[in-house]
Amino acid sequence: MNYELIKGRTPGFLFILVCLLASGCARGPYSFSKKIYRKQLKAEYKQLKRMDPPQLEDSLLTLPSNFIPTTNFNLRKPNFVVIHHTAQNSCEQTYRTFTLQRTQVSAHYVVCKDGTVTQMLHDQLRAWHGGRGKWGHVTDMNSVSIGIELDNNGYEPFSPLQINSLLVLLDSLKTKYRIPASNFIGHADMAPTRKQDPNAHFPWKTLASHGFGLWYDNLQDTVPSDFDPMTALRLIGYDLSDPHAAIKAFKLHFVQRDTSPALTAYDKRVLYSLVQEHFF
Ligand SMILES: [Zn+2]
Repeated sequence: MNYELIKGRTPGFLFILVCLLASGCARGPYSFSKKIYRKQLKAEYKQLKRMDPPQLEDSLLTLPSNFIPTTNFNLRKPNFVVIHHTAQNSCEQTYRTFTLQRTQVSAHYVVCKDGTVTQMLHDQLRAWHGGRGKWGHVTDMNSVSIGIELDNNGYEPFSPLQINSLLVLLDSLKTKYRIPASNFIGHADMAPTRKQDPNAHFPWKTLASHGFGLWYDNLQDTVPSDFDPMTALRLIGYDLSDPHAAIKAFKLHFVQRDTSPALTAYDKRVLYSLVQEHFF
């Protein structure tokens, strides 16, 4: 910067310039999305006030006459974690996607290839990461889950630094919200007709060894003749409205080396071993 030039100007010009520089620095790169975040929070609270029932009047602290307030409550807690790959080329690109209102997508956390973890939404708020889908009897996964996006173009392996950071994050979420191991799933698991993430390189077995997601300890050599694989898939949580899609999603998670929409003898052994260990 040319200080001689500035020196020659009036004090008023200097003042404005300093103010502009200072406000520019203070606002930071995501100042607009921070502003929208706060605005959106206020709008959501406003919406809550209008809900019927319960019809809360002017504020959350004003109660209608027929409302007998309990003294025992706190904020709702997430009970699932849904893992995604971003299918984008960098964390910066993902931050941009999640801070533009027109995209209508978001997640609570983004984990970059170098292990950086960025939180983009408070855990108690509902991110728009799952979309249409079903897991077990839950038909609105966004309302009950934390969404975690892993920076990945959709085809590449996940870096050890990224997985290490993910494990630390999952550990903290699992402890904080008492999330059962079975409730750590992939986006493809809950939306098998639409999604294929995280991709087949994702180390589900490693995650399960740390207590996140299901796996099997012993691969059974044979499967009983009366074993019904579709019932087994439903037991795990898969939506069977499109059976081929459910099989593909199961294989993407638990078999990985082959994701064709048909169950081979090996796939059935994996499926049987899983349900044998966790559901029977
Ligand atoms: Zn996804």
